[in-house]
Amino acid sequence: MSQKDVIITKYKIIEKQPVTHDTSRFRFALPPNIDFKFLPGDHVKIYPNPQNPLEFKPYTPTTIPDIKGYFELIIKHYPNGKVSGYMKERGLGDEIGMSGPDKGGHFEDGMAKRVGMVAGGTGITPMISMIRSILSRRLEVDIFLLFANKSVDDIILKDEFDKYADKYDNFDRFYILDKGPEGWQMGEGRITKDLMNEKLFGPSDDTVIFVCGPPMMQINLKKQLLELGHQSEKVIFP
Ligand SMILES: Cc1cc2nc3c(=O)[nH]c(=O)nc-3n(C[C@H](O)[C@H](O)[C@H](O)COP(=O)(O)OP(=O)(O)OC[C@H]3O[C@@H](n4cnc5c(N)ncnc54)[C@H](O)[C@@H]3O)c2cc1C
Repeated sequence: MSQKDVIITKYKIIEKQPVTHDTSRFRFALPPNIDFKFLPGDHVKIYPNPQNPLEFKPYTPTTIPDIKGYFELIIKHYPNGKVSGYMKERGLGDEIGMSGPDKGGHFEDGMAKRVGMVAGGTGITPMISMIRSILSRRLEVDIFLLFANKSVDDIILKDEFDKYADKYDNFDRFYILDKGPEGWQMGEGRITKDLMNEKLFGPSDDTVIFVCGPPMMQINLKKQLLELGHQSEKVIFP
């Protein structure tokens, strides 16, 4: 199917809440007759103008596939952003044109026993669905999340990740900030090869590393992960 023939379905916003100072969580009603199959890491496309199927941006459901009746997106609002700006102005009852879900680099049951995750900013969205899916079903999969942001206030769902780290032996996280506040105990600066070597699982047949963030970050970090010995097909971009 070409982009011109894409099927756009309208989903109604049934909840909208701020997550951080510049991101919002949107909950969309999912009628039972709609085929909305996805795996954690897959994405939908939003069309601000359903008459123009060439104008769209992808967004990744943060909810897990098992949930019936709704799905959620977390969207960062960029100043002058075409689609994120459009979404900023939308609220309860508005219907949003979307296509998909489409396949991204996603987590599939049985693909690995150790899952490393490296995310920058909104690159966390695919990881959210994967983490929730693995932990809620008590899969025997260890997860380590490295999550880079400018400041503490930018860390999406920090409370949720911190609670998971307390509750589950198979989940831990490490935040890296441009500059931490007074007394900050975690990382500062950039995600480096040394940091990934120290924190993430080492290369093995049972290990995959998901990397999601700005394109240059993904490319650079993948190069470094390959230098650390991870195989190319085990380093996955959602
Ligand atoms: C597979 C995939 C999944 C994605 N999932 C999500 C998601 O779940 N949540 C989410 O918020 N975003 C997600 N994104 C990013 C999203 O698709 C858009 O790129 C983003 O919302 C900006 O679109 P826009 O139309 O608002 O901005 P544009 O109109 O294209 O750009 C407006 C301004 O914002 C700046 N800008 C745009 N994108 C970025 C960026 N990434 N970093 C810094 N500045 C930027 C531009 O330089 C420009 O100045 C995903 C991207 C991909 C490829």
